[in-house]
This record gives sequence, structure tokens and C-alpha cells, in this order.
Amino acid sequence: MTDTPQHTDEIVLKGIAAAPGIACGNAYLYSKLIPEVRPRTITAEEVPAEIERLRTANARSEKELRKVLAFAEQKLGSESAVIFEAQIMILADTILMGTIEKRIAAELRNAEHIVSDEISKYKHLMLASTDEYMHERAHDVDDVMNRIIRNIQDQKLFSRLEGASIIVSETLAPADTVIFSRNQILGYATDLGGVTSHAAILSRSLKIPAVVGLRNATKQIKSGDAVAIDGYGGHLIINPSPATVEHLEAKAAKFRAFEEQLTGIAGLPAVTIDKAKVELSSNIEFFEEIEFARVQGSEGIGLFRTESQLIGRADYPTEEEQTALYTRVAEAMYPHPVLFRTFDIGGDKLAPDTHHEENPFLGWRGIRVLLDRPDIFAAQLRALLRASARKNVRIMFPMICTIEEVHRAKEMVHQAQHDLKAAGVPFDPKMKIGVMIEVPSAALMAEQIAEEVDFLSIGTNDLTQYMMAVDRGNDSVAALYQPFNPAVVRTIHFVIEAAHRKHKWVGICGEMAGDPVATVLFVGLGVDELSVIPPVLPEIKKIIRSIRHRDAHRIAEKVLMMSSEREIREYLSSITRTRVPEIPLEEE
Ligand code: PEP
Ligand code: MG
Repeated sequence: MTDTPQHTDEIVLKGIAAAPGIACGNAYLYSKLIPEVRPRTITAEEVPAEIERLRTANARSEKELRKVLAFAEQKLGSESAVIFEAQIMILADTILMGTIEKRIAAELRNAEHIVSDEISKYKHLMLASTDEYMHERAHDVDDVMNRIIRNIQDQKLFSRLEGASIIVSETLAPADTVIFSRNQILGYATDLGGVTSHAAILSRSLKIPAVVGLRNATKQIKSGDAVAIDGYGGHLIINPSPATVEHLEAKAAKFRAFEEQLTGIAGLPAVTIDKAKVELSSNIEFFEEIEFARVQGSEGIGLFRTESQLIGRADYPTEEEQTALYTRVAEAMYPHPVLFRTFDIGGDKLAPDTHHEENPFLGWRGIRVLLDRPDIFAAQLRALLRASARKNVRIMFPMICTIEEVHRAKEMVHQAQHDLKAAGVPFDPKMKIGVMIEVPSAALMAEQIAEEVDFLSIGTNDLTQYMMAVDRGNDSVAALYQPFNPAVVRTIHFVIEAAHRKHKWVGICGEMAGDPVATVLFVGLGVDELSVIPPVLPEIKKIIRSIRHRDAHRIAEKVLMMSSEREIREYLSSITRTRVPEIPLEEE
């Protein structure tokens, strides 16, 4: 213990903070890659035994998947578990399996080689598609293929980790997350993924620190390596030196102390010292997130991303399925409001039937898809109306860029109301209808749009993307993705003023709403609501409760005079003192 610590080759990787907390421990490198599949010639006599190996492996794979399915249903709910049903269906595909068996007999090759060759054909076709949904399916097919091959080779399924580990993986699919959550997991680190990936959402709910988007962590880390992850700052440190571990522990202690100050705040209102009220609600995608949102003190759901229902399925959910989900969500949040956004499909998001587009963010997305597919839109609107009987359901339309789209969408709502009325189905006739302001053309027309609807909600993620002409997922132009750019800030101000001139409620639901640096500004601009990811909710509330509205207003006025993003960011950071100061890793 008294030994001088060995000099370690510490490597710091920068990613995205996905779930708060610090974890230090041994890495478990989770790789989806299976051991090499070598082609082997077999004799004609060996064919029946080879086919038997294949069938046994198939049956074993199905058994494994059924276990995962049962566990997933319990943990994530039946909607999220459908992914595994789809995988079981691949195993049960008699044409595919028949082809594999025939090829073993005809080509006299070993089972795993033919499985790999045959299933890879499908996989490569799917991967060649530029459709993101097809890519997702290709990974599912890949998972099934690896599972069969692993079972043919009689290799053990990973299910138990030795001791507590930090999982390092390229990505974490729902199946992985489900399996791992049975172990003692200290943290998650992934090469890919964003803050809204499933791994991130689940780790926040389970309070497991996570860093995603690390790019090539899996190339630099082996199982057993000492690693530390900083889920506050979004770093992963390979071979952390004792000094770094000490820094991180100090940082964790500071955050814990800060979090302790926040306990008890959940039950308090989000009001400024001079009693100006700002509604604080949550952005969620899954029913399972509601409990955490409530614990964090959420006063409602300010954005429910309904397109999450499309994950892992090849079709749209039926009106009945949707009614069941929306009703559960509305009941779980009652009496607080739930703002459901109608499917925002296309762009970078999944859709069962999106086609390839050169420029998806400027293409068939959001309300454009819904207006072109009235069957899908009408079913969703009827489901939302059917869930509205308790009067806490609100709906809003994504990607509106013209007033005609608002007229047409409202017309669809009226038609759905008319149909339900004719069928004697109860609903809230006064269900509030709103529009997301996330496209510059809609922002400039905010006053006219506000006149048409009950409320506006500003989506700063897309608003920044479209105002700055920067693809929100493109790393090479990430420096220009500037939510604090004066153009974006002035536009937000313009929209809030426009809504208020028409006496309409206006909220902000982009990621920026949950950035503590932006809170004083938004309060000062007079926004009615901030909808944030649940983990940050107490911190934002603390900031709101520690300022005077009139001071925030003065600060906002000053910001509106500034001409660069840097100036705004620096000024707002300097006045946001409630935040725990960052301890830079490089310190000392
Ligand atoms: C936004 O664009 O700010 C928003 C909240 O929508 P999404 O991130 O789902 O596109
Ligand atoms: Mg958006």
C-alpha cells in the first residue's frame, strides 16, 4: 500500500455524458463479434449429424431468446419486448432454415459456415440499404446469426459477469441492456449512441453512470483494463492514475453533496424568489420513464416522443395499441398534463416505410409524412383523443413550416373528433392542440400560428440545426451547432413574444431547456414551461428557485444585445453559480 503508484499511461476519451455519476473499475469489453467461422468439408455420412447440430443450436437459441423476451417484458414492458419476438421469428423461418439444411447436404460444408454465409446475404442486403430502419433490422439478423453460430460451436452464452464491471461496447442493443441489467454493472460506455439511446435512457433510470458516443473506446480497451467513467463530464479514462481517481472521487462527492441539497426539492414548486411560476416538465419516450420523472418532481410531460413505438417493428402500431399506451401514460401522470407529439418520423428517425432520401433532414419528415399518410395520422389522432377523456392530454405537431400544414392537421383532428362522436366514443372535446416551433419559417410566423392553436413548444434541437444550417448529427460541423448563437436566442425570444401577444402558452422542449446555463435566460425571456430530461429536473428547479424574475429579465435583455455565441455562453456560465464547478481532469 505504501508503494509509489506505478506510472500509468492514462488515456482520456471524450464522449457524451448520458447518465450522471462516477464509476471506477474493470472493463468488460462486450463484443458482438463471434469467433471465426472456418469453412470445413464434411463427408456425406456426416450430413445428418451436422443437420442435427444445426437443429439443436436453433432450439437452444430460441430458448435463450424466450428467456430474454420474458425478462424484457417484465423490465421494459411488452411494447419494447417485440424486438425479441421478431428475432424468434427469424429462427422459425422454415424457408431460411430449409435452405441452410439443403446447402449443408449439397455443398458438404459445416453448419456454421453455411449459416454464416446464408444469413450474411440477407444482412448485407439490408446493410446496403440507406434506410435506417433496415440497418436496425440488419443488426437484429446479425444477432440471431451470431446466436445460432455460438450455439453450434457449443459456446456458453454470456449472462453472468465476474464481479462488478464497467461494460464497454460498440453499442448496446435492448437485448444487451436487458441481459446486463441482471449483473452488477458499475457503468456503461459505448462507442456510438446519443443521450436518447436506449442504453442511456435505461442507465439513467437505473442510476448507472454512462458515457456514450466515445467513438473508438472498444478499440483501445480490453476486458480487465482499469477504467473510470465520468458520467457528469462525459469522459472515459483508461488506466486512470491515482490522482485522477482521487479527482473523480472528489468530483463525485461534490455532486453527491449537491444532489443532497436537491433532495426535498422535488415537492417544491418551480417559482422564482419573486413568485414567478415556470412549469417544469419532462421529455420522455417510454412509459417506463414516468416513475423516475415523477420522483424527480415533474409537473407533467412536456414532450412524449410517440415515434418511440416504432422502434424494432416493421409496421405502425394499431389504433388500439396506441390508445392503450397513451391511456396508461395519461393515467400515470394524472392530474398533470401530458403533451404527446404526433409521430415525428423521417429525418434521422425510424419509420417502417421511409424511403431513401439524399437529404433526409430537409425531406419527408414529421407533419409532412403524417399529412401524406392520413390513414396513419387519423389512427394516431383517434387514439390520442380516446386517451383524452380525463382531460390531461394535449397534442402537438412536429416540423410545421407553413400555416397550411396547421390548417390541414387541425382538419384531421376535427375529422377524428367527428368519427369518435358518431361512434359514441368519449373524448375531451377541448383537448389542447399545439405546434412545435423548430423550423425558421414557423418561428417567423409564430404569431399567426399561435392564433390558430392553443400553445407553442419550441424545439431548440431542430431550430438550431435549421437556423445554423448544421446537421445535428454531423461531427465535422459540430462547432457550428450553437444553441446559444444570438440568432437562435433572438428567435426564441421572438417566438415567446409572439405567443404571448396572442395570449398563448409557450414552452421549450429541446435539450437546451435542460441546460442549467440557459435557465436564467429562459426565465428572463418569460417562457411558460421548460420540458427537460428527468435527471436534470431538480437542478433546473433549484436555479429557478434561486433567482428573481426581474433580475433574470435584466440578464435576458443584456444577452439579447450580444453578438456572439461565445459572449453569451461565457456571460451566462459566469452567472450560473448554483452549478457544481467542473474539476478539469488535467488539473495539477
Ligand atoms: C427538438 O427538435 O428540439 C425536439 C425536441 O425534437 P426532437 O429532438 O425529437 O427532434
Ligand atoms: Mg425536433
